[in-house]
Amino acid sequence: MSGPEADGSIDATARIVDAGGEADERQVEAALRPRRLAEFPGQPRVRDQLDLVLTAARRRGAPPDHVLLSGPPGLGKTTLAMIVAAELEQPIRVTSGPAIQHAGDLASVLSSLAEGEVLFLDEIHRMSRAAEEMLYLAMEDFRVDIVIGKGPGATAIPLELPPFTVVGATTRAGLLPAPLRDRFGFTGHLDFYSAADLVLILRRSARLLGLVADDDGITEIATRSRGTPRIANRLLRRVRDWAQVHGEERVTLPAAKEALALFDVDDRGLDRLDRGVLEALCRRFAGGPVGLSTLAVAVGEEAETVETVAEPFLVREGFLVRTPRGRAASALAWQHLGLTPPADSQGGWATLPLDEPPPGRFDS
Ligand code: ADP
Repeated sequence: MSGPEADGSIDATARIVDAGGEADERQVEAALRPRRLAEFPGQPRVRDQLDLVLTAARRRGAPPDHVLLSGPPGLGKTTLAMIVAAELEQPIRVTSGPAIQHAGDLASVLSSLAEGEVLFLDEIHRMSRAAEEMLYLAMEDFRVDIVIGKGPGATAIPLELPPFTVVGATTRAGLLPAPLRDRFGFTGHLDFYSAADLVLILRRSARLLGLVADDDGITEIATRSRGTPRIANRLLRRVRDWAQVHGEERVTLPAAKEALALFDVDDRGLDRLDRGVLEALCRRFAGGPVGLSTLAVAVGEEAETVETVAEPFLVREGFLVRTPRGRAASALAWQHLGLTPPADSQGGWATLPLDEPPPGRFDS
């Protein structure tokens, strides 16, 4: 479980509300993934748009435009990529940006694709520049240039590819170079789920896991899952563990409360990293504003973890504000931690619209 390390830092990989998937839970996740668009709760806009794009492609009998899915981890990007392939009745090839460090890695994947196949590129923002350039050409012209030899004697041999569909996923759409972003004819941005949608997801997961779950137990888990299905499913499994160890046969409200308290998930779904970020902001920087990298050092985390895992939810819930001069705690953050803001900063950032970042360049 999550907890402070000996050096006082927080182990983000072990956080129970960390939305990143761990290897040992991939199998359970695979079993819980909805397989078709019609079974996919939440994200109504992206779902309807995707439905239109895929239905039209199916009727034309041609691959659809390439699809880019962006949003915080655990919201269903991989699930939707699998659904795209299933709806098109095509096989899917799965790889990720970090696995493609050389253009040659990408060339060998591309040259082995079958006609109509779906290529899922997770963490596409982490691909090397050379691979990115090869991908532009492949996405637009269905062609790659294979370079043979080195130096002045090198020759590029063009290789035609059968039409295929790229589904790219990224937690940081802003990092994608514009030419790559432009090659995607459809972009879907996934947002945090409502508690009502998470209830639907949890009911389905409980059924698939063979659990009997009370409505108020499920609702309690849904409201503490940071709007994220991966976290909801993980918390459900911890509540099931708690119930089983305590000789209970159902997922009940008291079981949910006890288990979530044990794993340091508070009543707003904030965990140790979230509270660590807010505590650092309030206690060490008098509420901010403070730069992202300084804040990350204060909580013993990578700036990227703070920015992609903790921050989107804290901003969305109104605990944290992104200002042109850095991150700042809102009045709600002080209140949630039971702290009193210093008189001169009191409520300073609370008057800003909380879910709309102020204009200007953000520090990062
Ligand atoms: P991402 O690729 O965005 O990190 P995933 O697609 O891997 O997220 O989703 C993580 C887990 O959450 C999956 O195992 C899946 O079971 C579950 N999940 C995600 N979105 C949904 C949804 N809309 N309905 C049901 N389960 C979902």
